[in-house]
Amino acid sequence: MVTLIDTLAPAGFNKALPRHPEKQHRPDTEVLRKPDWIRVRAPGSPVYRETQQIVREHGLVTVCEEAGCPNIGECWSKKHATMMIMGEVCTRACAFCNVRTGLPLPLDPLEPEHVAIAVEKLGLEHVVITSVDRDDLPDGGARHFAEVIGAIRRRTPRTTIEILTPDFLRKPGALEIVVAAKPDVFNHNLETVPGNYLKVRPGARYFHSLRLLQRVKELDPTMFTKSGIMVGLGEERNEVLQLMDDLRSADVDFLTIGQYLQPTRKHHPVLRFVTPDEFKSFATIATTKGFLLVSSSPLTRSSHHAGEDFARLRAARHALLQVA
Ligand code: SF4
Repeated sequence: MVTLIDTLAPAGFNKALPRHPEKQHRPDTEVLRKPDWIRVRAPGSPVYRETQQIVREHGLVTVCEEAGCPNIGECWSKKHATMMIMGEVCTRACAFCNVRTGLPLPLDPLEPEHVAIAVEKLGLEHVVITSVDRDDLPDGGARHFAEVIGAIRRRTPRTTIEILTPDFLRKPGALEIVVAAKPDVFNHNLETVPGNYLKVRPGARYFHSLRLLQRVKELDPTMFTKSGIMVGLGEERNEVLQLMDDLRSADVDFLTIGQYLQPTRKHHPVLRFVTPDEFKSFATIATTKGFLLVSSSPLTRSSHHAGEDFARLRAARHALLQVA
C-alpha cells in the first residue's frame, strides 16, 4: 500500500505534497487479506523496463502507476501503458482512487505531441488515453483530449484510440468536442452502483454519467461505448443487475467488471472479495442482456487487454450486422 505523504514532488511542483490531503485525518480502515485468486505478475522484465524508459523519457504520466494498478507487470511487459493526460493531480477526491488530489497545473501544450511520439515508439496498435478530472478548466479538458487524439492520428494513423474520460462536470459543449475528434472507443466508467455514489464517488452523479454515455451514441452511433464498475464496495447483486439494464438502456456496447482493491488504509475499505464464479455469473447475465462484449473477472480493469478486446468488439458488431 502507498503512503499518504509522497517523498517525491509531482511533476511541476517543487515540494512533496500529501497525495490525499482530504483523507489524511480519516481513521484507518481494516484491510482484508487478499484471496488466492488475486495474484499478479511481478514487474521488472526487460520489456517492462523499456516501457518505463519511454514513459519517463517523454515525461508522461500513466494511470498504471498513479492508480497502483495490479496488472502493471503484465501490461508493461507487452508495452501496454495507459497514458493519463492533463497532469497527475485531480480536482476530485473519490474514495476508491489513488490519484493525487489538489489544484492541478496549467495544461502542457506539448503533451499531445509527446503522447503521440510515445505511442509511435511503443508501437501500439491500440492505445488507451485517460485523464484526471479537470473541473478547473472551462471545458473540463475536452479540447485537450481532442488534441491528443489528433496528434496520434497524424503520427500513427493505424493506431486505434480508446479514451476513458471524466464526466466533464456537465460543461456545455465539452462532450461534443471529444466525440467530434472520433476516438474508436468512448469509455466512461460508472465505477459503482448508484446507492454507493455519495460515499464512493461524491463529486459525480450516476444519471449524469449514464446520460453522457447515451449522448455519445446519439452523437455518433458508430462509436463503440464502454463502461466499467468495481465490485466489493458493498453493492448488492440486484443493484449490479439493475446497473446492467441501465447501461443497456443507454446502448452501451462493452461492460467491464473487476474487483475493487483498496490503495491505502484511508480509502474506502474492500467490503468483500467477489469470487471468480460470481464474476463468471455476472458475465453470463450481462451477455444475455445484450452487451456486445463483457469482461468480468477479479483483475479486470478498464484498459486491461484493451487492444484484444477492441478486436473482439469489432468482430461482435460485424457478426451482429451479418445476422440482421
Ligand atoms: S490494466 Fe490498464 S491501468 Fe492497469 S497496468 Fe494494464 S494498462 Fe495500465
